[in-house]
Amino acid sequence: MTPNPCPDLEVLFTELEAGKGPALDHAATCPLCSAVLEEHRQLEKDLYRLADPLPPPTLVANVMARVATEPTPLRRELWAGIPILAASLLVGLGLLITNDRALSRLGSALAALFTDGRVLLQGLSSGANAIWNTAAAPVAGILVLLLIVSLSGLKRLVGDGPNPSQA
Ligand SMILES: [Zn+2]
Repeated sequence: MTPNPCPDLEVLFTELEAGKGPALDHAATCPLCSAVLEEHRQLEKDLYRLADPLPPPTLVANVMARVATEPTPLRRELWAGIPILAASLLVGLGLLITNDRALSRLGSALAALFTDGRVLLQGLSSGANAIWNTAAAPVAGILVLLLIVSLSGLKRLVGDGPNPSQA
């Protein structure tokens, strides 16, 4: 049994900071006030936890330094770029195949490709930029090869002209 009535919360917390006082003595024996104090303690702990895991100010510098020491994975970037180019070409061929005008005449097909295929062009340019910055010379050869392959594919799509290997 507690003879004293529950103190004002402001008084209780002021005495909590001071570390002693009649309100604290009361809270030690009163389940209601000790529950309030426990809740306050938990809130304080959560606040410290929230403030704690701030990244160190040198984080960016450390990451950049580590990136600088790593060798550039040239081959991996190259092989990542080639599927992008190949997929872009496949999309272009797909547009040609699904377009009736494209099947009838190559000229109109190219026109349709350039008006309808903005996504293709964007994909081509971004993919080319990515690998062009890392390895210009081998990529140039691959681009020419892909161009020849896609052109021969277009010729076969038209169907009327003779196959380069047959001619
Ligand atoms: Zn109380």
